[in-house]
Amino acid sequence: MPEELTKKAAEMLLKGATLLSEPCPYCKGVRVMKEGQALCIGCGRQPEKKEVPKPELSKDPTLIEKTFEKKLESLSKELENEKDHEKQQSILKTINSLLETIDKMKGKQ
Ligand SMILES: [Zn+2]
Repeated sequence: MPEELTKKAAEMLLKGATLLSEPCPYCKGVRVMKEGQALCIGCGRQPEKKEVPKPELSKDPTLIEKTFEKKLESLSKELENEKDHEKQQSILKTINSLLETIDKMKGKQ
C-alpha cells in the first residue's frame, strides 16, 4: 500500500469520509468515499463518481416535529397577547417543556 495513498485516505477519513464496503473493482483494495468520490487505498484509482444525497434532517422534519413547531408558534402568539402574569408563566413552562421534548427527539436521531 503506497504510503502517500494511505496518508490521503487517512486525511479523507478525518474530514468525514467513510470506508466503502465494496472493494475496489481493479485491485480489491479498500476504498474511502467522500462527497461521492471513491478513492482506492490500494491502487489510487477513482473509478466512479456517485452522487450521494446529503441528509437534510432540518429541512425535512417529521410529522411530529411539525406538530410541535405549530404548537410552539401558537403558544408564542398566545404569550404575546397574554396580560396575566400567571398565565404567561404557565405558557412559558409549556413552551419550555415542548422545546425539551424536541431536543430529546433530535438527540435520538
Ligand atoms: Zn484499487
